[in-house]
Amino acid sequence: MALFQTIQTPAVTYEQPLGLFINNEFVPGVDGKTFETINPHNEKPIVAVHEGTEKDIDIAVQAARAALNGPWKQVTPSERGRLLTRLADLLERDAETVAAIEALDNGKGVSMAKGDVAASAGCIRYYGGWADKIYGQTIDTDAGSLTYTRHEPVGVCGQIIPWNFPLLMFAWKIGPALATGNTIVMKTAEQTPLSALYMGALIKEAGFPAGVVNIISGFGRTAGAAIASHMDIDKVAFTGSTPVGRQILQAAAKSNLKKVTLELGGKSPNIILPDANLEEAIGWVNLGIFFNHGQCCCAGSRILVHEAIYDEFLARFKTRAEQNKVGNPFNPETFQGPQVSQVQYDRIMGYIEAGKRAGAKVITGGSRHGGEGYYIQPTIFAGVDENMTIVKEEIFGPVCTVQKVRSEEEAIEMANNTNYGLAAAVHTTNINTAIRVSNAIKAGTVWVNNYNTLHYQMPFGGFKESGLGRELGSYALENYTEVKTVRVQLSKA
Ligand code: ADP
Repeated sequence: MALFQTIQTPAVTYEQPLGLFINNEFVPGVDGKTFETINPHNEKPIVAVHEGTEKDIDIAVQAARAALNGPWKQVTPSERGRLLTRLADLLERDAETVAAIEALDNGKGVSMAKGDVAASAGCIRYYGGWADKIYGQTIDTDAGSLTYTRHEPVGVCGQIIPWNFPLLMFAWKIGPALATGNTIVMKTAEQTPLSALYMGALIKEAGFPAGVVNIISGFGRTAGAAIASHMDIDKVAFTGSTPVGRQILQAAAKSNLKKVTLELGGKSPNIILPDANLEEAIGWVNLGIFFNHGQCCCAGSRILVHEAIYDEFLARFKTRAEQNKVGNPFNPETFQGPQVSQVQYDRIMGYIEAGKRAGAKVITGGSRHGGEGYYIQPTIFAGVDENMTIVKEEIFGPVCTVQKVRSEEEAIEMANNTNYGLAAAVHTTNINTAIRVSNAIKAGTVWVNNYNTLHYQMPFGGFKESGLGRELGSYALENYTEVKTVRVQLSKA
């Protein structure tokens, strides 16, 4: 099968790499396997890509190890930074193409995809800025010795990313890893392999030495599991579901105790108190749950509204949700496109049916949208109780529940009544309330009077079963460096 193919999208026509990206070349998999990626808008195959399995992971790890011990070691920190900023420039040069790939392969609206491209380029450039600012400490313990620390690269990093933000997750992962001098074996999600392969071509064009970044298209049970249990991978960074996160941690424990960072699921609360600016709060609540079709690990899926404003909130939120433009990702007006796959569509519809069966009230939505593609109506449930599946489990679709609370204390209690702890929000115009509630909520990010406003300068990650470690900001750098203490005994002479 070919290693490149011209692809026509409604926005651009471009050359799509199809091979595995190993040692700066696109190559077929050892077993000669391929798999198709599906356009969620029309349920038809876009193209087949080469599939990597355990053997290809081995080859990619060898390439990454050789680069780590060879050419990449010779690249100065400043030059690493220049390579990253050059990659960011190339991504911006090709922004329209990459946004079109995301819209085609993932189904997100092209306008949202352009936002992802800008955030990805920003993230890569930001970490380019960090590359020559990775310092240790000198530690004065006594006059007879010199003690200092070095922040050394961890080594070969396996990175496993999901399909909801294929490009952005790629950027979040490579940025801190490369800034700190590591090499990478990346496995993309089987639903959305295309944008990362395009990035492979840009990585080569930017001038990264061969083997520094290797990109494998493939499946979780084969290629993904091979990364998690590999004896020559020093660290694994994973973003995805909590059950798979557990498996990765177990595989790391059973193999070489590689370092693990996990960014997992959520069931994030979004609290609206009586003194909130209701118009603005409704806008953020809408964005909080329906952005990216609800396929966000930090989606604000549990909406907790004070009883004093509950009825008005619900009526106005319903009106707002019904105005969301659902449809073809290539329409620049589209806010919500199709879900990524048939599997996800079925899962979400299963939750909607479970909610109906349990007696929850559908305020709006609750059905498929249109006749073709994996489209689901923006769906709001009310009349739910704490034990319903739709209140407890992550749905990962355009489905939320609205619950009534009688006080700030009850809102906090309900907000924390979950095994997850990724994100939360509170809407209030009282600064004291805002800070009190933010401090009381067990979550990695708390938004006050906004939602989903991630930024590459801000750390992101989960409390409780939402993950281990932090991505983004300076915090992410800690996951990609080993601290070495050097103690020198000074001679008395
Ligand atoms: P989702 O259910 O939303 O697709 P997953 O957690 O299954 O999320 O997938 C996220 C990423 O993890 C994907 O790249 C997927 O291929 C990978 N993956 C799935 N299962 C495993 C596994 N057992 N080991 C390693 N990676 C896996």
